[in-house]
This record gives sequence, structure tokens and C-alpha cells, in this order.
Amino acid sequence: MSTPLNADLHCHSVNSDGTLTPTELAARARANGVDLWALTDHDEVAGQPEALEAARAHGLRYLTGVEISVTFADVTVHIVGLGFDHNDPRMAGGLADTRDGRGPRAVEMGEQLAKAGIPGAYEGALKYVGNPRLIARPHFARFLVETGVCRDTAEVFRKYLVEGKPGYVPHRWARLGDAVKWITQGGGVAVIAHPARYKFTATEEYALFSEFKQHGGQGVEVVTGAHSPQEALRYADMAREFGLAASRGSDFHSPDESHVDLGMLPPLPGDLTPVWSLLQARIH
Ligand code: AMP
Ligand code: MN
Ligand code: MN
Ligand code: MN
Repeated sequence: MSTPLNADLHCHSVNSDGTLTPTELAARARANGVDLWALTDHDEVAGQPEALEAARAHGLRYLTGVEISVTFADVTVHIVGLGFDHNDPRMAGGLADTRDGRGPRAVEMGEQLAKAGIPGAYEGALKYVGNPRLIARPHFARFLVETGVCRDTAEVFRKYLVEGKPGYVPHRWARLGDAVKWITQGGGVAVIAHPARYKFTATEEYALFSEFKQHGGQGVEVVTGAHSPQEALRYADMAREFGLAASRGSDFHSPDESHVDLGMLPPLPGDLTPVWSLLQARIH
């Protein structure tokens, strides 16, 4: 039997909430044995030209990528796009609209944290922002670790940045159908990211998968840094039930924060259709 392709189709750079540049990520992916790579920054494609060039320089095959923030049934869901045209103005416009509220949201997060006894968090978070268009919760988390409020970013999220905690500011992101459309009209494939991470009832989850398919979505992450082995099995079943292709990605953000490194994941179950088999013509 041949060795399965080491595909890692989910990670983040300084163009969103990761701490490495696309060039540093490509070198790390290469060193870890990745064959096929995609950089999937949140709501942003500015890193794609650098990622593509670095992938070429390191002999990695590459698919364009993005991770779009969506609100579905009042829950934030992430949709990964792969293999689309990153120069398509309809994608650029949609992402610009999606990013729009991040600035005011971050200011409000700073105000809420100040009320909770942590002053200067907005300014502090800004020091960690690599892309002024994209301030996200991990930038706040890094500042709260730096100032000793918490030991690590996981603790910051638990105590301050998730629903019901003082620094959590709800936000309305893109619509599911729009995100899928931006990806597919540019020739790409839409993928439900880390499905086990959403707090859905069984009915809501069924609705997500059904509506995603109706909109033209074709993939789901089965093996991801965000899934336990049991969760991977469960979403392998969902892929079979809904006739979706399977994706694989570490969701790597930072050597200091991510417990799963680039390319360091188990293989996809052999009977599933890998998402890259739908994208052969789009691989660089
Ligand atoms: P935002 O888009 O500003 O809401 O930030 C979302 C990002 O925060 C995710 O992409 C993760 O990188 C990070 N994140 C979300 N929840 C957690 C958590 N519980 N622990 C650590 N990081 C998290
Ligand atoms: Mn992130
Ligand atoms: Mn995500
Ligand atoms: Mn991600």
C-alpha cells in the first residue's frame, strides 16, 4: 500500500491570528513532511501570494485557502474554502464585509475587560496584531498572558473570552450561503471546519449539514487538530451520511500555543473521498 498524502489544509499566519509568516509556515510544513498545504487565514486572503511563492520554493503542492466566519442559528461556524481564485473581487468584497465589525468589536472587548479590572487590553492586543484589518480574540489572549493575568491562552479563553465571560462580545458574521457562494463561484470547494467544536443540538447540526449541502458545500473536516479520535470517527460517519468529501488540517496557529503541529495528524479513513481529489485541477 502506498503512503497516504500528507495534506495539511488548515493553518493561520500573521495575516490573521497566527504568529508565523506564510514563509515560516511553509518551511515548517516542509520540515514536518507535508506534501500538500493550504494557508487558511480567518476572513483574509492577503497572505496567499506569499504562501504560494513559499510553497513553490519549498517544493510543496499548494491550494489557496481561507477560513470564513459565519453565523448559523446564532452560533459562530467556520467554513474553510480551498482551491478558489483568491483574486476574485467577489471573494475580496465578501471578506471585507465580514471583517468590517472586528475593529469596533475589539474596542468593546477592551471596554468590557477594563470593567472586569483589566485595563489597556485593546491597546495591548494591538501589539500582537500583524494585519490591522484583522484583530481577533487570540491577540487579546496573548496580551493577558504577557501581563500575567493568565498562565496560557487556553486559560484566557476559559475565563474571559467565551460566551458568558466578561470579555466576550457577540458578533454577527457572514451568512452560510454567502460564504459557500464566494468560495464555489471562484472554482473552490467549501468545507465545514472542525464540526465537533460547535455547541449545536442534534437538530441544529443536521440543519447545518443539510443547508450547507443545499448551498453547494462539498466537504467536512474529519481529521483536525481540534478533534479527538472519537470525534474524527463521528464526523467520518457524517461525511458518509451526507456524501461529503473529507478534509484534514492541523489548525496550527503558533509553536507556543498549538498542540498539533503542521502535518502531524492521523490519516483520513481510507473509504472517504479526500477533498483534494475534487481539486486536482486547482493544485499549484
Ligand atoms: P475571533 O475570530 O476573534 O472570534 O477569534 C476566534 C479564534 O480564537 C479561533 O480561530 C481560535 O484561534 C481562537 N479560539 C477560539 N476559542 C478558543 C479556545 N477555547 N481556546 C483557545 N483558542 C480559541
Ligand atoms: Mn484562529
Ligand atoms: Mn476555526
Ligand atoms: Mn482555524
